[in-house]
Amino acid sequence: MAYNKPVPPQGQHTKPFWDGAKDGKLMLPKCNDCGAVHWYPRLICPYCHSTNLRWIEGSGLGRIHTFAVQHRAFGGWAEDVPYVTAYIDLDEGDRMMTVLRGVDGNKPEDIKIGARVKVEFEQGNDDTYIPFWRVTEEA
Ligand SMILES: [Zn+2]
Repeated sequence: MAYNKPVPPQGQHTKPFWDGAKDGKLMLPKCNDCGAVHWYPRLICPYCHSTNLRWIEGSGLGRIHTFAVQHRAFGGWAEDVPYVTAYIDLDEGDRMMTVLRGVDGNKPEDIKIGARVKVEFEQGNDDTYIPFWRVTEEA
């Protein structure tokens, strides 16, 4: 089935991320001065304000920081309710918001804070592959 949800627009400074996503890689911005990885991509490091940044290939691994079950949605998301949004603590540092895959929004008691998750990419259109995270093991 074709992807029927909003597809994020690509910006010039996020091109390395989208190019990586197309190849199944989670690219992350990293500061050359303080060494911190940050998410979302910015032109200035949010930790030390340096503009000396580079892109690294992340492990694509993390843990659930927190989650919420979404019972109301519109557009393409409406048919997926109840679905589960989450913040993922990336193994490299910082946090990414996602829609969790492989969980049942009707059974939130089965979703564990701290559970290991792995990134996967879903094709949104010809050029855009969107990251989602899937639980790989319990906390
Ligand atoms: Zn920095």
